[in-house]
Amino acid sequence: MSYFIIPQAWIAPAIAAAAMSFGTLGDTTKVIYRNLPGQGLGEARPPRTIVIDKRPASEWSKAKAQCVIGHEYGHLRGFRDESNKDDPVHSDNPRSLMFHSLNLTACERWRSHHGL
Ligand SMILES: [Zn+2]
Repeated sequence: MSYFIIPQAWIAPAIAAAAMSFGTLGDTTKVIYRNLPGQGLGEARPPRTIVIDKRPASEWSKAKAQCVIGHEYGHLRGFRDESNKDDPVHSDNPRSLMFHSLNLTACERWRSHHGL
């Protein structure tokens, strides 16, 4: 099965924006592709690897790809929201990029804030 490789021209600015949002990892972030279980779009593998689900190009947009990268980068940086008792690695605010699922409105706000 062929799958979409996210262009470096989308990845680099997303990582730069995520470093502004969450702090820098201080080293190169690696993006790899795997068949993730369930509906997962991405996964963070500390210390600095972002796993992207193997999907056809038709299932990716620039916004979706950049926000998944930004979200997973937040996990690599150890994002915590202790007020979200059941799932403190995510925000319980649907307006946050760190909400447990991809919210395209929050995604667009984050992208436009960072000029993506
Ligand atoms: Zn997450």
